[in-house]
Amino acid sequence: MIPSVDVFIMGAGPAGLCAALRLQQLGYRVALIERSSRWPRPQIGEALTPGVKNIIDFLDANQALEKVPHLARLPTCLRWQSHTPEIVAHSNSAVVNRAAFDAALLQLACERGVQVYQPASLTNVSGQAGAWQLNFNTPTREQQIQACFILDARGRSPQHIACAPRLSASWVELAHTDIPVGLAHLTQVEAVEHGWLWGTHLPDKRYRVMLLCDPATQHQLMPGRPEVWLRANCASSQLFAAIAELPFAGRLQACSATPYLAYDSWQEGRLKLGDAAFALDPISSSGVEKAMRFSLQAVIAIHTIHHTQQASRHELAREFFQRRLIETCARHSLWTQRYYAQVWCSHHAFWRDRAVPYPRTLKLTANASTHALFDALQQEFERLQNYRQPELKRQPFLREHQAIRFSRDVKIIKAPCVMNDQVQLWPALQHPHLESPLAFLENEALLPRLNILSHQPTLAAVLGILSQSMSIHKARRLLEWLWQRGLLEATH
Ligand SMILES: Cc1cc2nc3c(=O)[nH]c(=O)nc-3n(C[C@H](O)[C@H](O)[C@H](O)COP(=O)(O)OP(=O)(O)OC[C@H]3O[C@@H](n4cnc5c(N)ncnc54)[C@H](O)[C@@H]3O)c2cc1C
Repeated sequence: MIPSVDVFIMGAGPAGLCAALRLQQLGYRVALIERSSRWPRPQIGEALTPGVKNIIDFLDANQALEKVPHLARLPTCLRWQSHTPEIVAHSNSAVVNRAAFDAALLQLACERGVQVYQPASLTNVSGQAGAWQLNFNTPTREQQIQACFILDARGRSPQHIACAPRLSASWVELAHTDIPVGLAHLTQVEAVEHGWLWGTHLPDKRYRVMLLCDPATQHQLMPGRPEVWLRANCASSQLFAAIAELPFAGRLQACSATPYLAYDSWQEGRLKLGDAAFALDPISSSGVEKAMRFSLQAVIAIHTIHHTQQASRHELAREFFQRRLIETCARHSLWTQRYYAQVWCSHHAFWRDRAVPYPRTLKLTANASTHALFDALQQEFERLQNYRQPELKRQPFLREHQAIRFSRDVKIIKAPCVMNDQVQLWPALQHPHLESPLAFLENEALLPRLNILSHQPTLAAVLGILSQSMSIHKARRLLEWLWQRGLLEATH
């Protein structure tokens, strides 16, 4: 008999591992294959944002990561907006050894019962959603497995819509003993004419310096000489000039770093995660966090589908997945565009091209679903770009005897919300001052509780009702939050 699992995952990076651990927590039977025969395998993406810690807590994986070599809370010396560098503190961020980080999570997945095959390579997929049949090779034999869902977390995807002009990364490592004292215990980031430089100490006593630039510029100015190009950029900088002539401890490595949104991340029963679904500009160092976060959202979509036969709930899960995907890409594109616009050398072509919305284009051969994805991405980008945070009311909050109601611009709609690890439609407030529909505030469902406002009760009466299920202080805070943003008003 062919063995079967609920979910088959390809790729043991943060995206695949996060999905595997979460699915296992929810009681699914999971198999995971990893292609790399070298394990732990080296990987870039070693500066982790504070949100990764929350996800690790959520996955109950702290203990497994205790021994992973890391440097915590390195401040950044940043030369970005002005010629003068500034020091930016980072609490809860870390530079980890990614090989060890991924290996520790894979080991944990294994210990928790995920069936891990490494190295293994997929040879064939047949069947359909709910009944996939997968063939893969391990060093000893060919294996077969059946699965309801397939998750593709194999890293960067070639089939995509570019979200920004082309960007390439090239990097080298240096012996930490060669590094000037002034660069110790700091990460350095500097905007230079043709791109930006990033440098940091790694936990294993190496120092890495990386250049992000337009590959066409390098090709034009220094074709075929990437090391010389990297050194020249260091030499032209303020923070890296001292290392421009130092010997490299290994060969130069390079990869594409162009942000994108992949095609077809949702096919029935077959989803893409992490870099297989989208890649962000590395300037935010948040790729790992966003990849893991998106995996948690994909698990919610799977969990929803698994628990119901209702076509409408399946459609809701698909919408939820697509919206999170598009929102992640559009939000990051907009943030990057605004951040790139701030540099001291913004008049140079590299920065000019990136400080404006990117004219995304589609291949003429693109199919209908790719066109729909493309349009949705454009719309989301424009929606976020046009959104303006409201000015908060400064006058004292309403008095308890005052009658209150929702402002006329408030609409009550049904929005997809996550409840009990599934997507459900739940009533939410919509208002021009809100960036997106609001169903929960401080983990409290606002509706149907606040339906009482249709009777224009006094503030004291609403506080009385809310405080039956939360503290009076919290109830007051929630109402004040709505009032400050113009969603709540006195009747006269
Ligand atoms: C230049 C650059 C710098 C970056 N710096 C940072 C940073 O500082 N901080 C940060 O948070 N993010 C950073 N990122 C982003 C980060 O590296 C990625 O977002 C993150 O690694 C994505 O995780 P993933 O699991 O999707 O993919 P990956 O980490 O790429 O993992 C994919 C896994 O799938 C395996 N695989 C591939 N093909 C197959 C196959 N056919 N079968 C089975 N397994 C397969 C691979 O061996 C690998 O183990 C950077 C990205 C770039 C390009």
